[in-house]
Amino acid sequence: MEIEKPPVDRERIIATAERRGLVLVHTGPGKGKSTAAFGLALRAHGRGKAVKIYQFMKVPSARFGEHRVFEQLGVPIEGLGDGFSWKSKDLEHSAQLARDGWERAKATIDGGGHFLVVLDEIMYPLRYGWLPLEPVLQTLRDRPSHVHVVLTGRNAPQELIDLADTVTEMAMVKHHFKAGVPAQRGIED
Ligand code: ATP
Ligand code: MG
Repeated sequence: MEIEKPPVDRERIIATAERRGLVLVHTGPGKGKSTAAFGLALRAHGRGKAVKIYQFMKVPSARFGEHRVFEQLGVPIEGLGDGFSWKSKDLEHSAQLARDGWERAKATIDGGGHFLVVLDEIMYPLRYGWLPLEPVLQTLRDRPSHVHVVLTGRNAPQELIDLADTVTEMAMVKHHFKAGVPAQRGIED
């Protein structure tokens, strides 16, 4: 049996490559977009790098598994929203929170003091029109060149995909919710 070769000579690329910040997008209908972003945050933190995680739709008081573990590790994670939009009664308030949150995230990106900035679920406020896309794209274009930014959420706009360095589309091959299996603590939250 022939052994499948790795897709790239990773060691060589790392040894010779320039160091530069990437824009990474996790999109698509399948599960794993946010958790993959958290995985990158863990990896960067493990390398002693400064990481900041913003969650656009989560409330600041959220205490899911990711909040608990990042707190233990000393990785700042900040909810910027008021829960999912279909639950919100005051959409103008949700929109204002998204705009205020974006200003905070933008300042962190612009500041250049972080190796990695995660913008979790930013596609929702973009899709709902709470945040205009162009200032987000401009911030990514103008950011300090060493800053990596990860953006997650379904339905990434094409302009963002065009700008990004790495885009991963999570395919929904199956999801347990579809079979009526409810959210599992430690898997979903
Ligand atoms: P995760 O946070 O588990 O990485 P995600 O970020 O890819 O998931 P979101 O679109 O943010 O997915 O949805 C968050 C929640 O919806 C999670 O609890 C997840 O299990 C659930 N979910 C993800 N994909 C699907 C799907 N295709 N059908 C139903 N529920 C889903
Ligand atoms: Mg998510």
